[in-house]
Amino acid sequence: MPKRRKGANLSRRTTNSTVMRDIRARIQQNNTDVRASMAQLREARDERNQQRQLERRETRRFIVNRRRGIDQQRQQLLRAFTSDSFLRLAFQYEPDVEYYAHSKVVIGSLDKECPHCHALKFKNEPVGMCCSSGKVQLTEIETPPEPLHGLLIGTDPDSSLFLKSIRTFNSCFQMTSFGATEIVNNIAANGQQFNSTFKIKGQIYHKVGSLLPMPNESHKFLQIYFMGGEDSERALANRVDARCDYHNLNSPFARRIVTHLDALLNENNELLKLFKSHMHKLQSDNHAIVINPDRTPAGEHVRRFNAPVVDDVAGIMVGDRTATRQIVIRRRNNNLQFISDTHRSYDALQYPLIFWKGQDGYCVNIKQRDPVTGAETNKNVSSKDFYSYRLMIRSGRDNIILRCRELSQQFMVDMYVKIESERLRYLRYNQQKLRPEEYIHLRDAIAKNADTAEIGNSVILPSSYVGSPRHMQEYIQDAMTFVREYGRPCLFITFTCNPKWQEITSLLLPGQNAIHRHDITERVFKQKLKSLISFITKLHVFGPTRCWMYSVEWQKRGLPHAHILIWFVDKIRAEDIDSLISAEIPDPSTDQLLFDIVTTNMIHGPCGILNRSSPCMVDRKCTKRFPKDFINDTVTHIDGYPIYRRRSTENGGQSFIKTISNADIDIDNRWVVPHSPLLSKTFNAHINVESCSSVKSIKYICKYVNKGSDMAVFRIENTNVNAPPLNENDEMANDDDRPNWPVYQFQ
Ligand SMILES: [Zn+2]
Ligand SMILES: [Zn+2]
Repeated sequence: MPKRRKGANLSRRTTNSTVMRDIRARIQQNNTDVRASMAQLREARDERNQQRQLERRETRRFIVNRRRGIDQQRQQLLRAFTSDSFLRLAFQYEPDVEYYAHSKVVIGSLDKECPHCHALKFKNEPVGMCCSSGKVQLTEIETPPEPLHGLLIGTDPDSSLFLKSIRTFNSCFQMTSFGATEIVNNIAANGQQFNSTFKIKGQIYHKVGSLLPMPNESHKFLQIYFMGGEDSERALANRVDARCDYHNLNSPFARRIVTHLDALLNENNELLKLFKSHMHKLQSDNHAIVINPDRTPAGEHVRRFNAPVVDDVAGIMVGDRTATRQIVIRRRNNNLQFISDTHRSYDALQYPLIFWKGQDGYCVNIKQRDPVTGAETNKNVSSKDFYSYRLMIRSGRDNIILRCRELSQQFMVDMYVKIESERLRYLRYNQQKLRPEEYIHLRDAIAKNADTAEIGNSVILPSSYVGSPRHMQEYIQDAMTFVREYGRPCLFITFTCNPKWQEITSLLLPGQNAIHRHDITERVFKQKLKSLISFITKLHVFGPTRCWMYSVEWQKRGLPHAHILIWFVDKIRAEDIDSLISAEIPDPSTDQLLFDIVTTNMIHGPCGILNRSSPCMVDRKCTKRFPKDFINDTVTHIDGYPIYRRRSTENGGQSFIKTISNADIDIDNRWVVPHSPLLSKTFNAHINVESCSSVKSIKYICKYVNKGSDMAVFRIENTNVNAPPLNENDEMANDDDRPNWPVYQFQ
């Protein structure tokens, strides 16, 4: 209501005022209407908001519920993974549990970077394995120029041919000859030869001849580089002919590769340049080029390029007297000189395709460095540390050694022998510290009036020398102590590396197989083995353990495997065997994953009439006695292994079709290798689990566990445990089966 003005005449009614009053009333009405509709709108909005809030709350509740449901589900799935509940898990295997995804089982990926050298490692690998925590600092091997780079990484059209025969191409250019006491041909039990891993027996030696061949003899090795012709083109053609003829390389593609590489090495290899620049100074056949074995101390030439330069040549000299480790290459003679494996050019002369520039390898005076200041210390880098550094995968860098397939295998074996020789040399020169006269076997031998002359010359390998007879013997003693103390072991497990593990395949470079990368297969296997051992002995999936032991071996085909013996606090009861060990194909409708794992990893052969060329066949019989018989119930024998349940398809057993040489073969339970469903599911590999139920099997098992890779252990075990191993030094040189396990400090 408008306020009444003071002194206004209220009784006066004019048309004007009536109109005004009407207008005012209308406005008032309008205002009221607007207010009402506003209120309506507000109400509607509030209602809508409330509705929305409700909906939102509802959604949130739904999401929370769902998440809670998933969590509950997950908790149900992970029930077995909470602490303590691993106990005796193997007896309660459940198909829907993701055992393999648990953090105590996964080994992680190669993503831990060393702060010093940027090497990539698994979470449980030792800190110092790449560069001894920054103490080893080496110059990288530079990326080679084209076409070698393209041939190695696969961008060159001739790359696949080159990589397939890389050892042959390397031998076309090697300047020293490669020899070993024996280069082992891989022959399977059925007499068939296969070629997968490079193996040698005994000592490796590299030899170098003279720069020029004797009259009427053809050019070999280093000599080919000095073959001439009327002009440079003719000379190149002559060299290529000589290289290709010698190695039976007939295809035009191979010739093209050899031609390109010849030019590349002549242009870049510092050793060749050195030989060529000094060749004309050799006035007679008796003159020689001499290369010093060790690097010039770094103090004199700080940060210099590490390929040999002219300054490092001891001299052009005549006569016979030279220091022991020097390389002396005469202009012409008939002799071959052994190259000391600690000469810095040992690697470059043999592997010109890896050390294309003639880069230095290991020599004895490489100094360790202070990780912080980078200054040299007075300690030397050992050959093991040197080559561990060389074989690492580093972030952002391409390691060409790891691209060389069969050639890198040869290189690793060669360097492994170098490392072993260095350790043996150390032991030989430090016998006083080892106090050989106090060794019990030696004393025993003397006491028994053995031929002391024979003993007097031997070099004592302490038991800390991994793989030595004394080391193996300690293993046997341990095993025997366990057996004496606790009776027979309860389980005998064989764990074999699976080259299809995602951890391995994800690290292979394009075009590579696991067989090309022993560095990866070994490192992954080592991590998986650690995980398996802790699964059994720390998480006690088979129950509390009393003691255990294992040994790692190299298979003929180059896949590592471990033999594990375990003694439990509670012996496995006969009625528990079926829940623990299965020799049957799982039902794919309830456990597809285990079905896949068992059918790919745990099926023997097939051999016999189905496949006579199977590696297990000797004299037309399977050495592992497959196929086994069908049996409806497990029988535990008083003497020997139990006979596990293997039901036929009529009695509810499973079967599947396997294709071998284009023929479909029906595989049933007779072919299944005994396994633990829990271990198979968790580790996805060939894991043979056997229950030991007799004393008779112990001898076999101990032999298995302790044979290592040298024969001496057999002898000790089979005859007299206390007999001194004969000629230990020779035995050790034979230890060739483990190319780079010790290189990575795994022992
Ligand atoms: Zn490092
Ligand atoms: Zn067989």
